[in-house]
Amino acid sequence: MTKTVVLSIGSYAEWDIPPMRADYDLTELSSPAGLDGLDADRRAAVRAVAYKGHSPFGAAQMDLLPGLELIANFGVGYDAIDVAAASARNIRVTNTPDVLNDDVADLAIGMLLALNRNLTANEAWLHRGDWSSKGDPQLARKLSGARAGIMGLGRIGREIADRMAAFKMEIHYHSRSRKETPEGWIWHERPEDLAANCDYLVVALVGGKATEGYVSRSVIEAMGPDSVICNISRGTTIDEPAMLDALEAGRIRGAALDVFRVEPDLDPRFLKLTNAHLQPHQGSATVETRKGMGALQRANIAAFVAGKPLLTAVN
Ligand code: NAP
Repeated sequence: MTKTVVLSIGSYAEWDIPPMRADYDLTELSSPAGLDGLDADRRAAVRAVAYKGHSPFGAAQMDLLPGLELIANFGVGYDAIDVAAASARNIRVTNTPDVLNDDVADLAIGMLLALNRNLTANEAWLHRGDWSSKGDPQLARKLSGARAGIMGLGRIGREIADRMAAFKMEIHYHSRSRKETPEGWIWHERPEDLAANCDYLVVALVGGKATEGYVSRSVIEAMGPDSVICNISRGTTIDEPAMLDALEAGRIRGAALDVFRVEPDLDPRFLKLTNAHLQPHQGSATVETRKGMGALQRANIAAFVAGKPLLTAVN
């Protein structure tokens, strides 16, 4: 039986490629930029793309693959893929929701603890020998018991809220509509009202055009002077210059950020901040979760090839 032609795009872990090679007639590209270099017959034969990465995959790329029927994204966020362009070409899109919720939520909590408890600076203090020469480092700040504000109580937002509730925090959230939650969680209809009523504003929105700058300058201005912003969603969801202005001026206390508008060459203003804990987009980056994401991506391709319903369809 002839194998289905699948094109993998992106940089995959060593365990992801062998199963695709075994099951499909696989062509491998490290980025969509390589599409132009593929032979036209090979491009025409491709029925499914296993996509991984944040480079745009839009109409121009799809038009280079005239036989394409499925784009299986590695990741829950599919803002790099032009889903409208895919739908217009009858191309189905899938993503990998839920399998990464725990890790992204864990990182949000980890970053907030790192920021509040000065973990990075205190470890450097110890390594430099300052503990013996200068004594104890400066006091840190307490996370437990403060007011949490979740911007976007979706799958990941809910996991973050559950963790923050376990830290005895009062839970506030903004979603476009009120959600079913444990008793006492407070919904705010306006993002500004959420910002004004929490100490830790954690952004867990989807990325893409619809939420660009959702955490606007006016939302950031509504935050209190002792408050902290945390972003594990996408850099696009926050008005980045407005956030940088607030951090540089000390109008908010700090930031814990895993994502940036431009990655990996983030705005150099971030690197000068002394009140931010920054991570290089590590939300789902554990061996366990990345294996789960790869497995779900391949399960979607397998369902497509078998003519079965897709497991986690986007369109
Ligand atoms: P989800 O369950 O779909 O939740 C998304 C949230 O975004 C919901 O609260 C939803 O609001 C809100 N939203 C969607 N469209 C909106 C719009 N037009 N206006 C306002 N709010 C809107 O998604 P998820 O699985 O939690 O994932 C969230 C995002 O996390 C992903 O899209 C991805 O970008 C990001 N992520 C980051 C990492 C990382 O490494 N840092 C890893 C995985 C995911 P409602 O509650 O009103 O429906």
